[in-house]
Amino acid sequence: MAEATTTVTPAPRIRVQQMKEYHPPLGSREAMRLDFNENTLECSPRVRETLAQISAGSLTRYPDREPVEAKVAAHLGLRAEQVALTNGVDEAIHVLFETFLEAGDELLLPVPTYTMYEVYASATDARVVSVQAGDDLQFPFDRLIAAITPRTKVIAIANPNSPSGSVATREQLLELARRAPQAVLLVDEAYFHFFGETVMDLVGTLPNLVVARTFSKAYGLAGLRLGLLAGPEDLMRWVRRVLSPYSVNSLALACLPPALEDTAYLEWYVGEVLAARTEFEAALDAANVRRWPSRTNFVLVEIGARHGEFVRLMRDAGVLVRDRSSDPGCGGRVRITIGTRAQMRQAVMALNNALATLRTEGGKR
Ligand code: PMP
Repeated sequence: MAEATTTVTPAPRIRVQQMKEYHPPLGSREAMRLDFNENTLECSPRVRETLAQISAGSLTRYPDREPVEAKVAAHLGLRAEQVALTNGVDEAIHVLFETFLEAGDELLLPVPTYTMYEVYASATDARVVSVQAGDDLQFPFDRLIAAITPRTKVIAIANPNSPSGSVATREQLLELARRAPQAVLLVDEAYFHFFGETVMDLVGTLPNLVVARTFSKAYGLAGLRLGLLAGPEDLMRWVRRVLSPYSVNSLALACLPPALEDTAYLEWYVGEVLAARTEFEAALDAANVRRWPSRTNFVLVEIGARHGEFVRLMRDAGVLVRDRSSDPGCGGRVRITIGTRAQMRQAVMALNNALATLRTEGGKR
């Protein structure tokens, strides 16, 4: 008997030391949340009504994602087989990398970009090839093309990008897809609603294009954890082999259709953020703060050597902002999420006070 149950366990792949880590926010976020690019208000009232109607009995059942996947696919003009719902885009990235990256493969990234690409890549045995953007933080298209090798198996592009707020054009994305037919091109459209441009309409027409979307930003559902991947049917079949059938819970599935249907809410929120961004950018210019052009719901600003103190002063004034200084090529830079106009006017006051304090204290030295 003992012999029959003896199994040979392969040595675990020790990767801990080289793994890039993600540190979620520590401590309370009971303040104005301009640090994680979330919706800074609340979700659609239709979603709240749906949540209130969910019965205790319905929670006893495992979630059934297929009917909701079909609805989302129809909303995007795609077939159900081309769309997979995920537990946020983070799960989409994780699953995509686990599906398509193996030892010896390369993940190609422009940097700075969304941190989780590297975090999830380091959980595979693939090598990360990062292409640094210049000081203008514009999409480093030519250098990305030059960095493609036969080993490139995934190219991940956040469009718009975080933390820079810059964008790649449709032509550039198409060219990347064409120049790397051996790779999956992931276009992460987490901030699509603030940008308005998409390559979703090309899904299924290019063999290697996969698009991700989230409900965490404009829709205001970050806490529900809802994202999606859309791609050609044959690639999506592989993705579904890795994806857990129950990773999107039934509360999230119930809330997705009313969130999609309430287009008036979405348009209102996006319009409010874009108006607030224009005002906020004018205030940054008036305060002589360098900023990078943004096509999304956040702005990257240059604070300089005292970025840490700036973030603390803002927090003391009740406004949370995100220090991006440790991102490649982002020393001294801080990312500020755009909320409503009323919120941003408060943020401008806090920012001007913080800058004045830094100047006075700097002068005393
Ligand atoms: N992609 C990008 C570019 C992001 O900035 C974020 C969130 N900060 C995500 C994906 C993650 O989205 P989700 O909440 O759906 O996991």
